[in-house]
Amino acid sequence: MTQEDIIPKKGTIFIVEDNLINMKLIKDLLDYHNYNIIEAYNGKEALEKMAAHREEIDITLMDLQLPEIDGLELIKIFKNDPKTKHIPIIVLSAHVMEADMHKALNAGCCNYITKPINVEEFVNKIDSFFLHCQ
Ligand code: MN
Repeated sequence: MTQEDIIPKKGTIFIVEDNLINMKLIKDLLDYHNYNIIEAYNGKEALEKMAAHREEIDITLMDLQLPEIDGLELIKIFKNDPKTKHIPIIVLSAHVMEADMHKALNAGCCNYITKPINVEEFVNKIDSFFLHCQ
């Protein structure tokens, strides 16, 4: 039996990120910390994956700048859909501009993490989110 068989997963995180290096970093980090991962690399894929996996997804990590449909638009779509509006969204963005964060918060995202991520802070934030906000 491997360790993976014994330790239950903490939850399932849906990562929407088009940058391959960021995606790999975040995925590996969350996988190492015992989360299930579902990934999407553009807006269209995000809609498809959300439709297919909405029952399993505990939180969404959302990049704002994405091909096909941008993150802000996706937040609006997910938050206006009764089937997905309960799923918390954390924005993951290099945009530190207050106006962008304001738009994301208004559209229904509940928190944000700025890139480049600080590994320790990032994991702490996700862990505490699962402990306190579920
Ligand atoms: Mn991006």
